[in-house]
This record gives sequence, structure tokens and C-alpha cells, in this order.
Amino acid sequence: MAHVTTTIAVANQKGGVAKTTTVASLGAALVELGQRVLLVDLDPQGSLTFSLGIDPEELDLTVGEVLLGTSQPADAILVTDDGMDLIPASITLTQIEETLMSRTGREQRLRVAIDKIASEYDMILIDCPPSLGVLTVGALSAAHHVLIPLQAETLSHRGVGQLLDTIYDVKQSINSTLTILGVLPTMYDGRTRHAQNVLAAISETYDLNVIEPAIPKSIRFAEAPAVGRTVLSTASRHKGAEAYREVAKVLIAATAKKKVHPSEASQT
Ligand code: ADP
Ligand code: MG
Repeated sequence: MAHVTTTIAVANQKGGVAKTTTVASLGAALVELGQRVLLVDLDPQGSLTFSLGIDPEELDLTVGEVLLGTSQPADAILVTDDGMDLIPASITLTQIEETLMSRTGREQRLRVAIDKIASEYDMILIDCPPSLGVLTVGALSAAHHVLIPLQAETLSHRGVGQLLDTIYDVKQSINSTLTILGVLPTMYDGRTRHAQNVLAAISETYDLNVIEPAIPKSIRFAEAPAVGRTVLSTASRHKGAEAYREVAKVLIAATAKKKVHPSEASQT
């Protein structure tokens, strides 16, 4: 069977819902499971890049140059200490996003770039910025699936409808086979009935799958980036690390169903 790569965009235009933490931690969990993993930092803040021990300010080649077409994606790839490869981002992406607005094929550029290197990887995770602009649309255009981290708090799901509208638009215009894996509850305090109720309401209102286990709230998650590693390295047996390991297995199972190419389906 031909090699098939799964690309997942981790998106939510709300900041601070653990998109970056999820991309880094799931990436490390997938590496532990023997997968070849590429992470793409698509946030001009460069939080993912920084949290994996790389100083964005010292980089010459980032995802920005790849999107502009002045660098090949393979040339921008770095290896991180937790074993994932990374296409980093830096603040220059803010200016580059502006520039892209007047370029043709701006929403397809990430997909075209990823296509060139996808065969080297089993799983590619894209860390989206906290907006629904051209960068996030580009990520949704490049991905097979989208995963939506969500904090189970009262008002945190107000933007979900808007995100789903954007996903719908991308499906209509650019990427008809994009699927929503579901919402991943993060910073979850399952002891409160409130958090449970919010999750149930979100699932029902938007008809979204809730991925389990939820990621528990823990200070350990804030500590890991300070040493450039993920919680899977800094607190390996912690329940937060274990939760991401479980979610990684769930994602492999959920995406494997889609892995057979239509042309090969008859042979299997
Ligand atoms: P986003 O990328 O959506 O803006 P981040 O991943 O940067 O969100 O997370 C925002 C903050 O929350 C960071 O300081 C991070 O360390 C912290 N954080 C992430 N996950 C958890 C968790 N499960 N429990 C507690 N804090 C968390
Ligand atoms: Mg982030």
C-alpha cells in the first residue's frame, strides 16, 4: 500500500485554549508510538517554536519563507529534542501574512508546501494562530482533519459557531474532504459539574464529537516549555502526559479509517 500521511490542523480562534500545548504534547506522544511526526508552527507569536527550545528570533528560515516561496519546506525543517520535526515560525510571519493577501493561491500555499515533504511523515500537526484569517484558512485547506481544543468554561465556546462556519466555507470552496475529528476538552477540571455540563452542551449544540480523555488542568503544562520540552518528557508519568498519550491513540485509530486511498480500496 502506498504511504499515506495524515495532516491535522489544530484550530480555535480563541487564544489560550491549549492549541500549542496540544500540538507539542500530541506530537511527542505520537513519536513515542513510533510515528514520524512533523509539527508546523503557523502562529506569528512562535509559541510552539519557542516551547520546543528554539529561539524564533535566531531563525533565517521559517514557515513564512516557505509560504512566500523563497524557501523549500525541506530546508526550513528543524529537529526538536522530543523527536518531532518542526517547521518553525517567527514574528516575521505577521508581515508575510500581509504580503500573502495580494498573492495568488495564498490559501493553497501551505498545502502545496506540505505535499512536497509529506511522504517523510506519518502525521503532520499544524498549530494555528488565534484568528480565522488567511493562515488558519491555509491550514484548513492543507489538512485532512481538524481538531478543536476547547476549555470547558461558560463563555469559551461562543466562537465555536464562527469556527465551524469557516470550516464549512473551506469545505465548500477548497477542501471538500476535510473532517472535524471533534473537540478536545483542555484544562479540564472534571470534578466540577459545571465543566461537565458545558461539554455536554457544546457537543449537543454543535453536533460535535467530544474526544476523550479530557486533558486535566495542571501546572505541569506551564513548566515544560520553559525547558524546551513537552510534558511527556518533563513529567512523563503525570496524568496530563498520560491523557495526551491516550488521545494520540484515539487520533491514530480515528484517522486510520480514512487512510485507504479510494484507488486502493478495492484491493484491500
Ligand atoms: P493557545 O495555543 O491556544 O493560545 P497554549 O497552548 O499556549 O494555548 O496554552 C495557554 C496557556 O495555558 C499556556 O501557559 C499553557 O502552558 C497553559 N496550559 C495548556 N494546557 C494546560 C493544562 N492542561 N492545564 C493547565 N494549563 C495549561
Ligand atoms: Mg498557540
